[in-house]
Amino acid sequence: MAFFLYQILIRGDENMYDVTIIGAGIVGTAIARELSRYELKVVLVEKESDIANGTTKANSAIVHAGYDAVPGTLKAKTNVLGNSMYPKLCQELEVPFKQIGSFVVAFNEEEVKVLERLKKQGEENGVPNLEILPKEKVLEMEPNLSDQIIAALYAPTGGIVGPFELAIALAENAVENGVEVILNSPVSKIDKTEEGYKIQAGERVLNTKYVINCAGLYADKVNNLINEEYFKIQPNRGEYNLFDKTVGNYVNKVIFQTPTPISKGVVCLPTVHGNFLIGPTSDYVESPQELQTTGKGLAEVREKGLKVLPNFPFNKVITSFAGLRAKVEGGDFIIEEVKDNKGFINVAGIDSPGLTAAPAIALEVVQILEKITGGLKEKENFIRERKGVVHFMELSPEEKADLIKKDPRYGRVICRCESITEGEIVNAIHRPVGGRTLDGIKRRVRAGMGRCQGGFCAPRVMEILARELKVDITSIVKDGKNSYILTGPTKSRKKDN
Ligand SMILES: Cc1cc2nc3c(=O)[nH]c(=O)nc-3n(C[C@H](O)[C@H](O)[C@H](O)COP(=O)(O)OP(=O)(O)OC[C@H]3O[C@@H](n4cnc5c(N)ncnc54)[C@H](O)[C@@H]3O)c2cc1C
Repeated sequence: MAFFLYQILIRGDENMYDVTIIGAGIVGTAIARELSRYELKVVLVEKESDIANGTTKANSAIVHAGYDAVPGTLKAKTNVLGNSMYPKLCQELEVPFKQIGSFVVAFNEEEVKVLERLKKQGEENGVPNLEILPKEKVLEMEPNLSDQIIAALYAPTGGIVGPFELAIALAENAVENGVEVILNSPVSKIDKTEEGYKIQAGERVLNTKYVINCAGLYADKVNNLINEEYFKIQPNRGEYNLFDKTVGNYVNKVIFQTPTPISKGVVCLPTVHGNFLIGPTSDYVESPQELQTTGKGLAEVREKGLKVLPNFPFNKVITSFAGLRAKVEGGDFIIEEVKDNKGFINVAGIDSPGLTAAPAIALEVVQILEKITGGLKEKENFIRERKGVVHFMELSPEEKADLIKKDPRYGRVICRCESITEGEIVNAIHRPVGGRTLDGIKRRVRAGMGRCQGGFCAPRVMEILARELKVDITSIVKDGKNSYILTGPTKSRKKDN
């Protein structure tokens, strides 16, 4: 068996893949996991150093109920279906998910009319149990909301999830089911061949029958490598403030304001890990790299947040961040085989609710591939469950003692804000598609996610990374390829003459 695997590995690039998925965000990883159910040779290629390094790492983390999307669109279909898939999916993959429900609040009669329209639209889309609640009921359920609110649309199927945890879990499970993941390998060239396509991905050349373009903010550029240009991604930035766990239960549901035609507005919500999030803004920007937060954006977050939660303690902020929506003209998701290039499938323009819709988008892609290939054969031995990371502090005293006896590294706390042990960090490094960077560890086990944002634990995590990966500590990066943190020992620089 070992010899057979070795044969496959050394033959590497000469081999023909059935499917090459470009982009390891939530969409690419959901497709990879879905395709790993079938007898297919699948590779997932990512330009960055980790899974979920694009938009999937910076969004509101809401599993939307599905009343926003226009009935009949791909957005509406995949949102509602995706939402219904979340409980089982997150249970199978041991990913944090809470179906806490959501409110859209109205401050005047005009906004109540919008709530009525949203309710009708949601019902057409198939969203269950939508209700418009009067002020008294809303304030009874959420006493910290402004008393200027006059009604709210209640969607009990709305929820929250750990977005990068889910993408990482999907990738891990896909790998367990035979998918190959190649990181640090930007796709820069795609040529047509007799059997399909030849792809230049970093230093690798991949021959493949089918291509699935899930490159998020770069999906237009990847499309244009081989197809005629027919859509353009317009990055739209959303800025956020993230707050300390001491205010994590300020409200219990996701609180939306009445939406505008461009965005769902500023949202206030708890996160699955007990922090609190307020944002995002919505501003078109020129480039897919404009991820900085701005004074103007964060002032808007504050103003709109205080409108709904007038006494919210903004001094509990621990960090701010921004994410970019990959918008396209027309507004709907693009999920289709390209007309003039058979076997090339674009999955593009996946802005919100792409996180919610991803599991259902994966099913759409499977349907397209079924049509192209004439049918896919299911594996007999698909592993549907994935063991999640151990959260030491959530264990019972007996379980903790047992674990420390087996591995004393679980008795050593490295991140004091989040109480993350060395054992958890080592596990995060050695899992399938393990963390290789400081942020990769943060996203897997939350070391550095707390109040000090890694101020204390970052050097310790770097030491562990260097030790476990057997590399020099100066080669450990924060996130992207060149985000080095150390240059060498202190006082080693020669004095300039
Ligand atoms: C502010 C904001 C708030 C949002 N809130 C929500 C929400 O609450 N709920 C919800 O459902 N959705 C939400 N969304 C939308 C959701 O985050 C996105 O739809 C989703 O993350 C898109 O995933 P993706 O996999 O398509 O893109 P990405 O996560 O960006 O993944 C694309 C990947 O492709 C890689 N790539 C690009 N070019 C190449 C190349 N040439 N070669 C190899 N790899 C390449 C990138 O590095 C990246 O990792 C929000 C989005 C934003 C910006």
